[in-house]
Amino acid sequence: MRARILAYYDKSAKPLYLVDWWTESFVATREVGASVYNNFDRRPQEIPLLRDHLPGEALGWVKSLQNLDDGLYAEIELNERGQELLKDDTYRYVSPSLANGITLLTGETLEGWHLIEVSLTNLPRQFGESYIAELGDTQEASVYIYLSRPARVATNAFVPLGAVPFRRGPLIEDEDWDANDAIERIRKWASSDGSGDKDTIDWSKYRQAFAWYNTDDPQNFGSYKLPHHDVRNGQLYVHKRGVIAAAAALQGARGGVDIPEADIDAVKQHIASHYHQWGEKAPWERNEANRRHTMENITLTQEQLTVALSQAIQPLAQEIKQIKHMLDRADEERKANELARLAHDIKMQILSWRYGDDQSQSIPPKVAESFAYLLARMDEEERKELLQFLRANPPITVPLAQSAQPSTPSTDPLTPIQAHYAKILGVSPEDYIKYNRRDN
Ligand SMILES: [Zn+2]
Repeated sequence: MRARILAYYDKSAKPLYLVDWWTESFVATREVGASVYNNFDRRPQEIPLLRDHLPGEALGWVKSLQNLDDGLYAEIELNERGQELLKDDTYRYVSPSLANGITLLTGETLEGWHLIEVSLTNLPRQFGESYIAELGDTQEASVYIYLSRPARVATNAFVPLGAVPFRRGPLIEDEDWDANDAIERIRKWASSDGSGDKDTIDWSKYRQAFAWYNTDDPQNFGSYKLPHHDVRNGQLYVHKRGVIAAAAALQGARGGVDIPEADIDAVKQHIASHYHQWGEKAPWERNEANRRHTMENITLTQEQLTVALSQAIQPLAQEIKQIKHMLDRADEERKANELARLAHDIKMQILSWRYGDDQSQSIPPKVAESFAYLLARMDEEERKELLQFLRANPPITVPLAQSAQPSTPSTDPLTPIQAHYAKILGVSPEDYIKYNRRDN
């Protein structure tokens, strides 16, 4: 079972401080917690679960600590007595005893904060309050700080922990990692008769080779995830490449690993502690800064991409639009100039023609111009052909008065003279209008 024995924040999320009467100074509980966590393995005796901070029979034993963001957690293995006292609500709260600096009988002093014991209690102090009890003539410690949790939180004080506590061990450094082979050795090692059969397994022993297990179904091989230890000469070792593989799985490699969100921090801390054994940081510790930076970028992108991009592109887009407009206009002008030049050439050609042998009669400039613009818009082949035909059969002048003649149907889109020319040219009235529009 797991209990938060030190909280780092009060209920309004303010950091908590303790008064260390020994040094007469305020100490952040987070610092105290970190110190306790780091010193856990250094104390030459196991940490008992007691009642009311009184010496006496143990109700269980603290197996490991987890130092998480909101406090220091203890994994406590309760004995039957301890389980009873919690089951029937004889006790509802927990409280740690801490000591700053321990002098051992050998004269050696262990610096920093140490966990002396954890107690079940019914007289908890509120967050942030603490009192000090002097132990008088015991050699071990001189100052205790008692601190516990308010009732409402205490109902959550004990929660099943799927994360396996970190344990130091000798290191296998340069060997390849084969999870299946390692698990086979671990089964035999945790088995009472060395067979590795399921019904001979000491599951609390087996568990030590993994980083997580399903507390609802602990007597099943399938409940154990993230193996990274191995056995050599009857001893449990830390397998460096196994640790690296477990870290990769936690980072999502090979489909990742399916463990509850609540246990992830503790599992990562276990794996990270192995990395620290050989003086490295876990991948997520290394990537922390990068990840934060990337997240900022992603947030910016998501929220402001449109604005940022359009702001950056707008002047450029405006410029491109202007250039395109200028090019279009230049192109139009160029085409119009070409057309005008061609039409002028054609007009000059047509004006040079004469009706039959009558040298005095030439084609009127207006007629020539009309034809010239029409011909200038035609395909070159078509135009050449038509020009040859027209030269042989020059357009005749039609008296202007004829345009007023009522014989022409009012629905005819062309004036009589236009209809006449269209006929000579062999084009429909629609085509005549189409080709002969100046703005075409
Ligand atoms: Zn481990």
